[in-house]
Amino acid sequence: MTENGPASEGKVEIGTIIKHLNEKWPGQKKCPVCGHKVWVIADRVGGVVAVKESMVMPSEIYPVVLVTCRNCGYVLAFNAGTVGAIEKPTQSEPTQSDEAESGVAADE
Ligand SMILES: [Zn+2]
Repeated sequence: MTENGPASEGKVEIGTIIKHLNEKWPGQKKCPVCGHKVWVIADRVGGVVAVKESMVMPSEIYPVVLVTCRNCGYVLAFNAGTVGAIEKPTQSEPTQSDEAESGVAADE
């Protein structure tokens, strides 16, 4: 299985998550509860549900990747977009002025 590229069918590219964790979480990656250092990364994107006052209808779901301590079950939830598990929602990001070919300093 040599699948590169975007996760298919909700599957998480584990290598991408590990890379992100190693970049952002230096040190021994100890569980804050039990102190063990073995984590299990969920292979599917999960969801944290935001509810309004009524608590009846969920109003929003935040996609997360769950990283679970193998020893005690403590769960870390990472934003799936931030860790690269899913594509970030397409926002209307204005493309920076990449038409400027030699625009080191636009002095006028
Ligand atoms: Zn633990």
